[in-house]
Amino acid sequence: MADVDQIRVHEIYESIQGESTFAGLPCTFVRLSRCNLRCRWCDTPQAFEGGTEMSRAAVLEKALSFETPLVELTGGEPLLQEGTIPLLRELCDAGRTVLLETSGERDISLVDPRVHRIMDLKAPGSGESRRNRWENVAHLSSRDEVKIVLADRADYEWAKGVIEEHGLERRVNEVLLSPVWGELDPKDLVKWVLEDDMPVRVQIQMHKVIWDADTQGV
Ligand code: SF4
Repeated sequence: MADVDQIRVHEIYESIQGESTFAGLPCTFVRLSRCNLRCRWCDTPQAFEGGTEMSRAAVLEKALSFETPLVELTGGEPLLQEGTIPLLRELCDAGRTVLLETSGERDISLVDPRVHRIMDLKAPGSGESRRNRWENVAHLSSRDEVKIVLADRADYEWAKGVIEEHGLERRVNEVLLSPVWGELDPKDLVKWVLEDDMPVRVQIQMHKVIWDADTQGV
């Protein structure tokens, strides 16, 4: 079978969306294996290796079987696999609202325009800031969201500069600032955002509040 017809999957499950402007909604998660980055605070290292090789048709069938209007492809980094682009299109064709979580290191321009892309920009505290593909910023649209995970004040200052330089809040539906769980106190982030009148949405990972932070498959 060609690479485009095979997908390495870590898990497919139903839960509620924990982040983004879709937070709180029932959602089917298709978590793909493999990532080429190693963010210092990554909370899904279990998806780096292993996984199950499945046909793209079987992944589609399983994702649709949960019958949630919302489906998200995440990882790992979904855009490392050739089958991701056609799978996203097929999920849209099936009438689902489709989200893609991506690190921002891969080219996002080939993604079906019906997909809501939630693209990370990696702040210095991640250890992977040099991997940001800045050409992607030009491809962002009002359907998309940019997420920046912050470990400390230095990351916040970096985010502030990037938002201003690229006019991010005018390019996308929402700019999301998210504190590293257990590292940056959300109260500090809220204070800084209010002091600076930042055009952003502060978010915390809802699933970590509901379940234990290390629980998988939720
Ligand atoms: S890009 Fe995402 S999955 Fe990959 S290391 Fe960073 S946080 Fe983890």
